[in-house]
Amino acid sequence: MRVAWTADGESWRLDFRLDPEDSLTGTVTDGARVLLATNSCAVRLPRPLADVHPDLLALAAWTVVAPYTRRRIAFDRPVSPGVAAAIELGWGIEAGPVGGTPRDGSRLAVSYSGGADSAAVAAILRDAPLVHFQRVSHPRVPNRWAHYRSDVLARLAVATGRELAVVRSDLEFTLAEPRPGYPEHHAVAAGAALLADELDLGGIAFGYEMGSRWLGGGRYLLRYTPDNPMWSATGKWGTLFAAAGLRLVLPVGGVSEATTMRIALGSELREQVRWCLRGDDGGACGTCGKCLYKELIRAAIERRPLDTPITADRPVAAKWQKPPPYGGQEMIEYGCARVPGIESTPFATAARHLGATVESTSWLDRCYPPALEEIPDPWRKQVEDFMAEEVGLMSEDEVRRVESWGAR
Ligand SMILES: [Zn+2]
Repeated sequence: MRVAWTADGESWRLDFRLDPEDSLTGTVTDGARVLLATNSCAVRLPRPLADVHPDLLALAAWTVVAPYTRRRIAFDRPVSPGVAAAIELGWGIEAGPVGGTPRDGSRLAVSYSGGADSAAVAAILRDAPLVHFQRVSHPRVPNRWAHYRSDVLARLAVATGRELAVVRSDLEFTLAEPRPGYPEHHAVAAGAALLADELDLGGIAFGYEMGSRWLGGGRYLLRYTPDNPMWSATGKWGTLFAAAGLRLVLPVGGVSEATTMRIALGSELREQVRWCLRGDDGGACGTCGKCLYKELIRAAIERRPLDTPITADRPVAAKWQKPPPYGGQEMIEYGCARVPGIESTPFATAARHLGATVESTSWLDRCYPPALEEIPDPWRKQVEDFMAEEVGLMSEDEVRRVESWGAR
């Protein structure tokens, strides 16, 4: 694989060429199979930059091309030995040329999507700048996903009134299958990486919560995953980000989606929180699978009946008519245990199978301490203080619930 970046004003274009051993198909770190659609993309920053550190360019490029690279990657500028070593160690891919000096920074930015998880992170890190990734169309790939209202989400990010950089990119259209999306989940931070020197960033905070970080997330079902290759501090991505002087930080990695929802809706960002990509300026669509799932969590924390037009016979509710396991099962248990009248909702079958109670799911209301230990030193205390005051830490019994998740 050979990659090259060219800057044109505020726009940075990435071109990549596959070597003979590379492949148009690949496997993402989360295990998903992907098919490449095209070999270029662009990242448009809020303003032109004189230059970007080669390690940051390499990091951003790697989030796009990693799934297809089989043996070696040649960057267009020399990277630091640490970045090359992280790619070789993590992926078994030879990376070069090597010769650059490493970088670092001091601030922490939030990778802000506008959903409840990243809004919770923004609420915890009150002074951190936000970097928002906005999907835009690709000049060479037809956009059959025009119902994705990334423009609405970008407007909501602006409406937070926070220090904000909106980064516009078509990199999701480098994927032909399964659909346009991040080639690796970390590609959402491509813009933050390019801006890291400009913003003096030493870390980037993501909204990945306990389910994504410790309970299997998108990669494993019902499995405790301390070694999660995507999000653990010492996993291959955590190591690579750190080598590029941009540490990967998960301020809500120790709490459930119920807790991030509670933090987000209790914060000053409440009016801007939006997890649905299909809604317009009037609000979320209310009819997609994501809206149904989040409504279950929201109804649970508000201890009220489910408010949804979706019925059990709708395709978006199909998976809840089957027996478990489910992705995000801890939150289905939490919701089914708390929402009044669950037996007359699309979750009735799931609730019957799971048999969860308020008591059996109360561990999901507190913070898993090892997640705090993963947060790098300059930023840990602020998060620790917030969790101690606003959430509370898990007891030893509750810690065991996390660490035996999925075990029989
Ligand atoms: Zn929706």
